[in-house]
Amino acid sequence: MTGLPARAGRESTAGSRFGGSPGAPYPGAVSVPSVPSLAELHALAPAQQPSYPDRAAVDAAVTRLRQMPPLVFAGECDELKAKLAAVARGEAFLLQGGDCAETFAGVTADNTRNKLRVLLQMAVVLTYAASVPVVKLGRLAGQYAKPRSSDLETRGDVTLPAYRGDAVNGFDFTPESRVPDPSRLVDVYNASAATLNLVRAFVTGGYADLRQVHTWNTDFVLGSEVGRRYEQLAAEIDKAMSFMEAIGVDVDELRRVDFHSSHEALVLEYEHALTRTDSRTQLPYDVSSHFVWIGERTRQLDGAHVELMSRIANPIGVKLGPTTSSDDAIALAAKLNPTNEPGRLTFITRMGAGKIRDHLPPLLEKVHAAGVEAAWVCDPMHGNTFEASSGYKTRRFDDVIEEVQGFFDVHRAVGTWPGGLHVELTGDDVTECVGGGEELSEADLAGRYESVCDPRLNRVQSLELSFLVAEMLRKA
Ligand code: PEP
Ligand code: MN
Repeated sequence: MTGLPARAGRESTAGSRFGGSPGAPYPGAVSVPSVPSLAELHALAPAQQPSYPDRAAVDAAVTRLRQMPPLVFAGECDELKAKLAAVARGEAFLLQGGDCAETFAGVTADNTRNKLRVLLQMAVVLTYAASVPVVKLGRLAGQYAKPRSSDLETRGDVTLPAYRGDAVNGFDFTPESRVPDPSRLVDVYNASAATLNLVRAFVTGGYADLRQVHTWNTDFVLGSEVGRRYEQLAAEIDKAMSFMEAIGVDVDELRRVDFHSSHEALVLEYEHALTRTDSRTQLPYDVSSHFVWIGERTRQLDGAHVELMSRIANPIGVKLGPTTSSDDAIALAAKLNPTNEPGRLTFITRMGAGKIRDHLPPLLEKVHAAGVEAAWVCDPMHGNTFEASSGYKTRRFDDVIEEVQGFFDVHRAVGTWPGGLHVELTGDDVTECVGGGEELSEADLAGRYESVCDPRLNRVQSLELSFLVAEMLRKA
């Protein structure tokens, strides 16, 4: 079912229907390997990598990681790919969400459950209100490494290396904490394993049972306007389920949900050490997550991230910002998905509310006209970040909605399917994005700002977003 050639080497791009160029062979390579070595990847001068002071410690961490069992099974990646193919065909909608940056301290039962719960609530709203199957994908169990626009951070008269996520260094603003430590990569593996284990237990063990729709609507959400709206919808679902049960439909089918994991594939040592040959297909898979994506800052066509991702058989994503040309996107598709396999490639656009209506139409039209098979998903977060007067990084809820609305309008005009939503959110009552029904102001940000990187929608804002998007989907 995976359409990649058995040896997913560079030759495979030569016959691409997009006319992708095969590129130059690796220096000194005797035969084309299915996965380039770490040294070969580093020879491509990868962007956004940690500057580790101790090479031997890096090797030790990589050796340890190579011995660890896979976090996901390749067959599960294929299942997700089939679901994403349905998204690309316009038959399903992707909901991808979670923290900007997970932290080791955040690996708790409450935190994981709360994130899962808000995603389940959003998925129910989207599914029920728009009658579209929703593919649920957590931005979790591996989202620990961050690209940064600056290598350094200055506070007062002290300048230190920037925080690059718990995968790399510590958030504390001290020289010791900011030194990149490769043993953290092993900690990422363990934290991801613990998170994934709990998520798997929740989604198969009864917590995600559709008969629990009411119980997900708890505490601070219950008293909110959107919580009341959700309660009404949950009551309708209850009624529909009682009806189905009464006529003999097996509602036990609704006890579990499909849920998959994803993160940005950023630190090459980690992703490479967890790339393994699947015993069924002999194809390489990155078994650190079901889905991995390439960020806006690391999507260079000849760069190491695109190179590594071009060799694995997982479903993958690429972020596309406002500077992306249609030629860039077509070349990325040719290299990353030379056989044009449905479900393999997801383009995640993050243009900004003020730019999407200008930048997305020409991109989408040309890429679509070139016959590129891809799911198109909207990240309405990363083009809309600004610094509040108080110094907090924030986003306006209205800008998020405006970008999603622009995304739907452009797809409608071009005749393509607005395939999904990629959002930074938390299941908690944080104050990181301004606006929404609770009308959070810039002055409110100090109340409960917990993100170590970008601002996330809180649980009420996330639910509000899902109702608004359900409305847009119904019209689409
Ligand atoms: C992110 O998703 O947190 C991120 C850094 O996004 P982008 O690569 O689109 O800037
Ligand atoms: Mn982010």
